[in-house]
Amino acid sequence: MIRAVKGTRDLLPPDTAVWNRVEQCAREVFRAYNYHEIRTPILEEEQLFARGVGADTDIVSKEMYAFEDRDGSRLVLRPENTASVIRAYIEHRLDQRPGVQKLYYIGPMFRRERPQKGRYRQFFQIGAEAIGSDSPFVDAEVIEMVSEMLTRTGLSGFTLLINSVGCQNCRPQFVEKLRAALQPIAAQLCTDCQRRAETNPLRVLDCKVPEDQALIGQLPSILDSLCEVCAPHFEHVRTYLTDRGIPFEVKPRLVRGLDYYMRTTFEVTHGDLGAQNSVLGGGRYDGLAESLGSNIHSPGIGFSIGEDRLVMTVAQSEAATLDVFIAHLGEAALRHAGILARDLRREGISVEVAANLKLKRAMELANKAGARYALILGDDEIAAGVYSLKDMKTTEQHRVTREQIFDRIGNRN
Ligand SMILES: [Zn+2]
Ligand SMILES: [Zn+2]
Repeated sequence: MIRAVKGTRDLLPPDTAVWNRVEQCAREVFRAYNYHEIRTPILEEEQLFARGVGADTDIVSKEMYAFEDRDGSRLVLRPENTASVIRAYIEHRLDQRPGVQKLYYIGPMFRRERPQKGRYRQFFQIGAEAIGSDSPFVDAEVIEMVSEMLTRTGLSGFTLLINSVGCQNCRPQFVEKLRAALQPIAAQLCTDCQRRAETNPLRVLDCKVPEDQALIGQLPSILDSLCEVCAPHFEHVRTYLTDRGIPFEVKPRLVRGLDYYMRTTFEVTHGDLGAQNSVLGGGRYDGLAESLGSNIHSPGIGFSIGEDRLVMTVAQSEAATLDVFIAHLGEAALRHAGILARDLRREGISVEVAANLKLKRAMELANKAGARYALILGDDEIAAGVYSLKDMKTTEQHRVTREQIFDRIGNRN
């Protein structure tokens, strides 16, 4: 038997209904904030991510699905989408379009991670990028939007963490301060931290090893090193969030160890997810377009939501989506049912017809399908133009006309 590739999975009904609802909800929120969809290819040149994510990150060095194409070019299955969106932005000169470019995407990403619960090698992200403004107002709007989106999908009890990682003017001094502070304690930290203390001290702050946390907690805070541009920027973001009643926590350890990240970073965590409890991460990346070879300064900010985890945490109990189940008695009634089903479906009512099933069997199936109503059609009903409509929940049965069916069932939608 051939099975799905390790680390990938099939999404089946009824779970797909939750996925669809989450995505529909996201699209509605994006629409309200004037974001528009971008669809970039799943295949990209390997170089894009070496430059756009960082060659020394785990994603690029260990987890990418990279291969040589038949013509010798190096391709990858995209491990994330920000680099692709910025590539498309540069390639199609979207900087020449008026206003801030607000783009969103929903789709699969690929990383060859060690298999663990709730982690997949093909996973889905819902994300967005706002490119062309360095205003803190845009940062606050993006953060407000993600908070709105998570709330509307039904996620409650999440925590929004924000921070500023400074800029190319103030961060290098902080990194030196950090390096100096790490020197006497590095030997007591995990092996990854020992290495990072030399190569990329900022990433020590990311360490999740429990034994390291006490020492890391005593390291200097980047917020004490922000320059005269970064400090007011962060102040503004916080003010705008407070204005709108969005609760947040400032977490100075929330950093991104790549050069083009600057100023605002944010993350959303949710208690139900345990140690791997981040649902969403984002940040400002004013230097990313330049690091991908653009000579146009294109400040931007974006985020991505791990859709697999979000779906896992929102309510799994979806309401029945089947409105009417039609059972029939005889061939003439089946033909009539076909026409009636078409007309109901045109009104957006979901219909299933139990073709050529005995009435008893059909009613059992209606029950199992979670239908709201069952409609029973026989020769008498057709001749009289009056149908029996059974409410599957209350088991009440009513004699209704064709018009009444549309009224009764259509109204709820
Ligand atoms: Zn700065
Ligand atoms: Zn560590």
